[in-house]
Parts: sequence; C-alpha cells; structure tokens
Amino acid sequence: MNNATAFPRFWVTDPMSIHEFTATELLQRLESGELTAVQVAQDFLDRIEHRDAQVQAFLRFDRDGALATAEQIDRRRRAGEPVGPLGGLPVAVKDVVCTQGQPTTCGSKMLEHFVPPYDATAIRRLKQADAVLIGKTNMDEFAMGGTTENSRFATTRNPWNLERVPGGSSGGAAACVAAGFAPLSIGSDTGGSIRQPASFCGVTGMKPTYGRVSRFGLIAFASSLDQIGPLARTVEDVALLLETLAGHDPLDSTSAEFPVPEYSKTVAQPLDGLTLGVVREHFGDGLDGEVESAVREALHVYQSLGARVKEVSLPHSKYAIATYYIIAPCEASSNLARYDGVHYGYRTDEAAMLAELAAEQRALASQGDHAALDDLDSPLVRMYRRTRAEGFGPEVKRRIMLGTYALSHGYYDAYYLKALKVRRLIRNDFDAAFNEVDLIAGPVAPTPAYRLGEKTEDPLAMYLGDLYTVSANLAGICGLSLPCGFSSEGMPIGLQLQGPPLHEERLLRAAWMYQTATDWHTRRPQGF
Ligand code: GLN
Repeated sequence: MNNATAFPRFWVTDPMSIHEFTATELLQRLESGELTAVQVAQDFLDRIEHRDAQVQAFLRFDRDGALATAEQIDRRRRAGEPVGPLGGLPVAVKDVVCTQGQPTTCGSKMLEHFVPPYDATAIRRLKQADAVLIGKTNMDEFAMGGTTENSRFATTRNPWNLERVPGGSSGGAAACVAAGFAPLSIGSDTGGSIRQPASFCGVTGMKPTYGRVSRFGLIAFASSLDQIGPLARTVEDVALLLETLAGHDPLDSTSAEFPVPEYSKTVAQPLDGLTLGVVREHFGDGLDGEVESAVREALHVYQSLGARVKEVSLPHSKYAIATYYIIAPCEASSNLARYDGVHYGYRTDEAAMLAELAAEQRALASQGDHAALDDLDSPLVRMYRRTRAEGFGPEVKRRIMLGTYALSHGYYDAYYLKALKVRRLIRNDFDAAFNEVDLIAGPVAPTPAYRLGEKTEDPLAMYLGDLYTVSANLAGICGLSLPCGFSSEGMPIGLQLQGPPLHEERLLRAAWMYQTATDWHTRRPQGF
C-alpha cells in the first residue's frame, strides 16, 4: 500500500496554517492538489473578515468575486486544463491601481465613487496568471505620504504594534502581508512607497526599474517616478510576482522593451563574487543607531557568504530630498489638474454652490457694490474651486501648491529646471558607483516605524524619512527592502539593496542569499 492511500492528500495540510505558508509553498500545494484555491481564498478572506478591523489594511475585499475566481481555477485544474503561474494565489491590490468594475479610490474623496471602466495592465496580467484578487488596500491619498495616515477613509495600523504606523504610502499593502491577510500584494513606489512600508512591517518589497512594470491604469502621482511593484514575505515570492507583473506594454510608452528573466527560476542561484557598495553618505546625521547596527550586521552576513563590501560615494545624495520634493509635486500638480469635477470623480453640491452665489449677489446688490458684483467668480469657476477644496485632503493640496509654485513663470528655471539637472547628477552618481560595485546596500528608512500621529503635524519631518528611498526613483534604478532585524521596541528594520537599471534578477538573487542565511523574514507579529 502506498502512502498516498494511507494518508489521503487532503489530510496533509492543517487548514489552520494556510496563511503561514509563503506564496511559493502555497503554490506547490495548490499544484499538487493538496489544497484548493477555494480553501486558500476562504482562509485569507476569513482572516480579513475577523481581524482586519484591528489593522484596517483593506478598504474593500471581494469575497464573492474571489471565491468565484478560485472555484473556476479549481475546476480547470481538476479537468487537467492549463492554469496560470499564480494559479489560485490570493493577491491584494493597492487602491491606486485600476480594477475594472471595482471601485478604485486612491485613498481620496475625489475618487470615492470612481469605478474604472478598464483594468490596469498589472491587473490584466494578474488575472491572466490566474491570481485571485481578494481586495483593495489602504494608502495615503494619491500615494502622497509615508504613514498611510493621509488616507481619507481609514487609519492602517502596523501589525507589529497597533499604535504604530505601517509606513506608506502602500501601508495597507505591507500591513496585509505582515498580518497574514494575503500572501502577495502589489503597491506603488514614487519615492519609497513600497520599500519603506515593507521595512516598517517586516516584509519584502521591490520597486522595479522605471519602465519594468507597465504604469497603464496606475493612477498617476508623479509619472516620471511612479512604479508598480510586488510585496510578499520572502524574496522568492517577490520574484514570482514580479515575473507576472513585468514586461513591455504598448499601452505605456515608457515601458521597457527588454525581455523579462524567469526570476522565480533563477532567484535561488547564489551570486559568486558579489561586491556590495556601502554609501558613505548613508551613515550620517539622522540615522537611528539601531537601524545602523542592523544594517551593518547584515553586511557582515553578506561577508560571511563570500561577498565583498566596498565603500562608494553618492556625492549628490544630499540633494535628493530637495530634488524629489520639487519634481514630484510639479508632476503631481499637473497630473491632478484633471480632477476638476467635470471629467472625473467628485463634484461639489451644485445647488449649494448656486445658493451661496445668489446669497453673495444679494448682499452686494443691497450694498449697491456693483464693482464687486461684476468681480464675482462665475458658477463654473466656483464649481472647480469647491470641488477641489472639498475633494482633496491637506497633503495633496500642499503638493499641488508646491508644484504649481515651482512651475510658475519666473520660478521654473530656479526650481523645476534646476531640480531636473540635479536629478541627472544623482543618476550619474549611481552609474559611477555601479561601475565599481554590483549592488548598493544600506538602510531603507532612517528609523523603524514610529507612533501614529507622531509626524502628522510636521510634514518636513515626514519628508526627511524618504532620505534613502527617493534617489532610486529619481535615477530610475531598482531597489528592494528586506527584513534585517528588530529594534529594542520590537519593530522591524529593513535593509535596502539597490541595483542598476533592469538588474532585478541580480537584486533578487542577492536578497535571496541573505534570506537563506537569516530568519528575520520568517518572524510573525504576535496575534496574527
Ligand atoms: N513618501 C513619499 C512621498 O510622500 C513617497 C511616496 C510614494 O512613493 N508614493 O512623496
């Protein structure tokens, strides 16, 4: 009698432990028939339903849709029909990526009732790969922020400590993976929004090279910086998801026409003779001591694995924050001009607006002030103004004002044009560094996750938290965050690896080497 008969396959996996498997482990069990896509989806959906009230990682989840997809995948698998490479794996999606027929709010009142008529290319690829889309995750409004506190709808909490921020802007995407609500999620990264929440929540996240993943259907924040990327518990899972997301797309004119390596097949091949660059300027003022020690310890791990560590310099990195906080708001002010109450989304209450206008007219008429009457803004202008005043939150307004100012006549050369020139210098610094080293290793964020509300009143302090992440977006290179330790208060710390454009494969292989030698990525927050 063979074992399969003695121990029926469906007994092998305790359904209670489904969420503890990595995506790669789940996929093996789905493919072998040990688990069904419905069982897997059900487990994650139940966890979201029962526990997400504490974390608020999801803005919406789609039980019926997810189970219907899962059933259909199971049916095809049972019938021996082909099933895609993510066959039955649940994926959560940041609410900045358009999903046809499903609300996509971007964390903003402006898009509260927006239902896209089409899927983003990333979503289309996930569906073709037979992923099970389980819900949309919370984020800072229009992806502007570093804590997810700028969401119009919910405050996401860090599963490692519910009084702390999950990071942002993809806070929901990182928190849902950390809490075991989804094995895989996708986020977007304009200045660190995948890497920083990944580091705050103790998960692995990658910002691919600019152009690697199509931006078609990604709601624009700063179009020359935005990238979609994967988050998961392990590097292996990130590789698996990136393989589905990446590739040329004729619908995005900036998408790269380069072949996509089979990341999931090569990720487990260690790199011989790896040289890691350590950036002199990374270890200066503002870097928390515990983060510094964890990062330095990670470098020792690499050395013990045979890697060489070499100091490099990125001399213009001290201008990165200033450059980013000019270019990103400039592009945002232009991109967000489309939210005018006419084409998209929210429109102010027109009856109230007209009543207000009539009251002003009456008041001025009774005073006989005809000049002021003539100067009153038209109903159309008032509609624009009220729509934008009511539809956008304070951080989005701040960015629109900063960007509009920096682009205005007389300031354009001093700010925007200058920032573009410095951006080029920052890219040149990386090019020079990558002539000497294979990858750059350093911190993701200057501190671990801090308390909710700690920085909401101080935008500049929040902006400075992006010190180590914005350069990769300005230079268009790829970067990855992976867990490398914990603070004395029990908060995760992330290690950032950055690689030359289109070298995600190298990045993943190097990151995987680290995860085979350490177990930080296997730690789970208590209670989840
Ligand atoms: N925290 C940065 C910002 O507020 C990055 C945001 C992002 O990457 N979307 O702009």
